[in-house]
Amino acid sequence: MMNENRNRKTGNTIPILDAGAGTVREVVPIVKTDEEWQAALTPEQYDIARKEGTEYAFTGKYHNEKEHGIYRCACCGTDLFLSDKKFDSGTGWPSFSDPVSPLNIRTVMDSSQAMVRTEVRCARCGAHLGHVFDDGPLPSGTRYCMNLAALDLTGKQT
Ligand SMILES: [Zn+2]
Repeated sequence: MMNENRNRKTGNTIPILDAGAGTVREVVPIVKTDEEWQAALTPEQYDIARKEGTEYAFTGKYHNEKEHGIYRCACCGTDLFLSDKKFDSGTGWPSFSDPVSPLNIRTVMDSSQAMVRTEVRCARCGAHLGHVFDDGPLPSGTRYCMNLAALDLTGKQT
């Protein structure tokens, strides 16, 4: 497709929260071809983040992770979730009550697999992250059910 690089050329930016600094920055969306993503990611990351795969329950690399930090997009490094918003939903997939900011994700209706669900994507690069449900704990009431292969845990909070 000849339009793949349109965002890069026009310089359109989107606001993204830098969770470490606590400030909103204007950044250029990350647009890459399938071939570029395949070269940049592990096969598992590519399958889940770019091809909307779902990892098997209880296999996520951070399933029992007790470290504190920021979960970032494995594709582009955008801050997505804080470890202190992570909770055990009993589903086998890591769940978060809130993203670091609504700016950093976008949601898309997903009617695949005979269900209507709300898919969660990285706002900056469009990576498939998981789904969001409305049965989470209060006060947010939301449950972000994530594939950990799409996330990198970095930047310990102290
Ligand atoms: Zn991303």
